[in-house]
Amino acid sequence: MNILEDYYLIVDLEATCADDKSIPRKQMEIIEIGAVMLNARSLQIESEFQSFIRPVVHPQLTPFCTALTSITQADVDGAPPFQTALKAFKGWFFHFGSYRFCSWGEYDRKQFQRDCQRHGIGYPFAGGHLNLKTAFSASQGLHRKLGLQQALDQLDLIFKGIPHRGLDDARNTAQVVCAVQSRKI
Ligand code: AMP
Ligand code: MG
Repeated sequence: MNILEDYYLIVDLEATCADDKSIPRKQMEIIEIGAVMLNARSLQIESEFQSFIRPVVHPQLTPFCTALTSITQADVDGAPPFQTALKAFKGWFFHFGSYRFCSWGEYDRKQFQRDCQRHGIGYPFAGGHLNLKTAFSASQGLHRKLGLQQALDQLDLIFKGIPHRGLDDARNTAQVVCAVQSRKI
């Protein structure tokens, strides 16, 4: 899980979804960005970012999506569009200079690519992406990939906050990175 950069920029996205195939993957849109800036040396979270985003392809959230994420229709109705939220997000992480974009799996990277393409905006991150799910398994000598909750269980850590909320998922992902890096396990 080691990086050469000064910070782990740990991102977790929530997106429009359904349980009846009415929102295929290509039509999923980000409805929340949650992110923490974790200092790679001190292993302290130095700053956090959260924004809801108003979706355009499926502007109405499904009951399934709200039940899964706890994000309400009012949250997204009052939220900025993707372009505006992305500008604020970039403005936040830009100041940290040397960072590595990280997330639990490849989903968040791909979803950013999809939404940037949809809105004709450039991909926001400099440098590569670190898949923490893969890095975690490698660090533990595991052949299989674990979900975030399973990784926390493996480390005897407790999920704090609400699962499937961007900022809470990002904070708990940071817990895993901190434990692995500080215990060197
Ligand atoms: P997560 O970071 O695990 O909360 O997942 C990110 C996004 O993936 C969610 O906001 C949903 O859009 C989608 N997702 C996660 N779990 C499910 C699920 N069980 N069924 C459908 N979509 C899901
Ligand atoms: Mg999440």
